[in-house]
Amino acid sequence: MDIPQETCYFCGEPIVMVKGAYRKVTGWAQIREQGGTNSLSLMSEPEAWAHPACVDRQRLKKRGMGPHTEPLF
Ligand SMILES: [Zn+2]
Repeated sequence: MDIPQETCYFCGEPIVMVKGAYRKVTGWAQIREQGGTNSLSLMSEPEAWAHPACVDRQRLKKRGMGPHTEPLF
C-alpha cells in the first residue's frame, strides 16, 4: 500500500500522513447559544500537512513560550 507523501507546512520536510500528523482544513462551525462555536463540520479536503512537533512548536510560539525563552525562576 502506498502512503501518499506531502511536505510539512512549517518546516518543508517530507511528511508521512500517518497517525499523529496534522492536517490543515477549512470548514463550517456553528455559533452556539452559550457563545463559542461548535466544532468544525463539513470539513474540506486537507490544504496542508504538518508534523506534530512542528504544530507543537507553533502553539508554544503563540503562547509566548518559545524554545528560546528561558524560565525566570
Ligand atoms: Zn515539520
